[in-house]
Amino acid sequence: MEDNTGYSILRNPRLNKGTAFTYEEREKYGLLGMLPNAVETIETQISRITEQLENFSKPIDQYIYLMQLLENNETLFFKTITSDPSKFLPLVYTPTVGEACQKFGLVSRRPRGLHISIDQKDQIKEILRNWPEKDVRFTVVTDGGRILGLGDLGIFGLGIPIGKLILYTSCGGVPPEHTLPIILDVGTNNEEFLNDPLYPGLKIKRIRGKEFDDFVAAFVAAMYEVFPKICIQWEDFPGVDAIRILETYREKICTFNDDIQGTAAIATAGFISISRLMKKSFKEQRFLFMGAGAAAFGIADMLVKKFQRDGLSREEAYNQIWMFDVNGLLVKSRSDLAEHQLPFAHESEPSNNFAESILKIKPTAIVGVSTVGGAFNQQVIENMSAVNERPIIFPYSNPTSHSECTAEQAYVWSNGKAIFASGSPFAPVEFEGRLFTPGQGNNVFIFPALGMAIFATEATSVTDEMLLIAAEAVAEQVTAADFEKGLICPNVNDILKVSINVAEKVAEHVFESGLANVERPVNIKDFIKSKMYIPSYN
Ligand code: NAD
Repeated sequence: MEDNTGYSILRNPRLNKGTAFTYEEREKYGLLGMLPNAVETIETQISRITEQLENFSKPIDQYIYLMQLLENNETLFFKTITSDPSKFLPLVYTPTVGEACQKFGLVSRRPRGLHISIDQKDQIKEILRNWPEKDVRFTVVTDGGRILGLGDLGIFGLGIPIGKLILYTSCGGVPPEHTLPIILDVGTNNEEFLNDPLYPGLKIKRIRGKEFDDFVAAFVAAMYEVFPKICIQWEDFPGVDAIRILETYREKICTFNDDIQGTAAIATAGFISISRLMKKSFKEQRFLFMGAGAAAFGIADMLVKKFQRDGLSREEAYNQIWMFDVNGLLVKSRSDLAEHQLPFAHESEPSNNFAESILKIKPTAIVGVSTVGGAFNQQVIENMSAVNERPIIFPYSNPTSHSECTAEQAYVWSNGKAIFASGSPFAPVEFEGRLFTPGQGNNVFIFPALGMAIFATEATSVTDEMLLIAAEAVAEQVTAADFEKGLICPNVNDILKVSINVAEKVAEHVFESGLANVERPVNIKDFIKSKMYIPSYN
């Protein structure tokens, strides 16, 4: 039933302005009597929201409230989020979204996004055509297999694509009508869900192997047929699947994986900004990784590209990066290394002692991606402090309990010298009368801006260069004052301004490398701004 009455306008989140409808609009659309008498500004509406939110003590309840606002009035929702990003982003994305996914069956009020299950492989196009928007440009898709550090959350993982696309819009300006969250339901290995009568997904063990890959291939083909300008961002697929999917499609379609590439880009941005603010050449950095798995290779590959961009040969670049895995230092004499580990295995004595290796290798930075909480012990930090005036300590393992050291340990054991950034958040630390703000690598400075550049230019692929340029552009915007406080990323409250600058640089590269599908404008920054979604009733 098509209903264009005022009543239906009030229930359409894209059209609804609530109490901000003017008297003229109320008369025109048949809204008289549907609203209280006062005509309010969007600022007054935000004040009310802020006050109503304070009635909820738990972040999860605030999340539910904000999601309902999104379903009720999209403009007001995005205006609220962008009014105070440092307050609202943690409520609509990490850390609150993790709990929201765990309880998605209880917190979800109205389906948002698309559910595509593996038994619907032959109906994917039909499902995609049911989506009301016809020009979808950006999708975030997950199979719920490894949600944040929380494991297999089945179709409740959909909370992540929903949250991430909110960030594409609020932090990068990608218009919401061009975004689409998707969950691929391939079953779940979560026993609790399999036995829960209220779990609404497929109650089968996860389908793997060829059948899974064929389903993903059918999904990709259908997406391109129904939405020819689509960019697909893969999210929170289990490690091996994530790498394989990315490798399969990265050269063929416009796609990327934020867990792998976004994380690598923001870590690289951190090292670039530290080098710049220490007035040191990036080429002087030497890295020692604890952990030689998926995360290590994502980051190390990008560091190699950065070294090469700064003039080192490929071999020289590899020589600046050393790695430890569970069996010790990666050295040429080891016979147990995988193909992708070989370039990082150097001519050296084998070692099982990370702290001792620091004294020999003299890294300027150590990167923890081992999943071993506490692995950067006092000796490790002290040795880093012995070979560096300002040791760079990056424990990147998530969640907090897996972090290789805490912020406090890094500052105390290094006598306040450490430059610290982690994967999980840490509270500020007071040490000897000084307040240290631990840095955190936050991908939010990368993917929304990258998304905006792709959206504006209609880029046909996502290259490593685009990510590296995004990393450099983020690093450029960290100020000496931020760095003094301990921050290695810009202030999150400046996110939109930062994203515009990052998107400009990435778009410039897209045009230069012939990957754009639109004509190069005279002024790229103005062009980006003209395409951005700005939440406003006008
Ligand atoms: P992974 O299982 O692929 O790799 C773990 C690596 O650590 C392996 O090389 C293993 O040999 C090594 N290791 C284990 N115990 C060790 C020890 N005692 N000493 C030295 N090395 C040891 O895991 P991953 O996907 O690379 O993730 C690692 C951590 O990084 C996780 O905590 C994850 O949350 C975090 N992280 C991952 C990503 C990602 O994209 N995968 C991104 C950001 C952060």
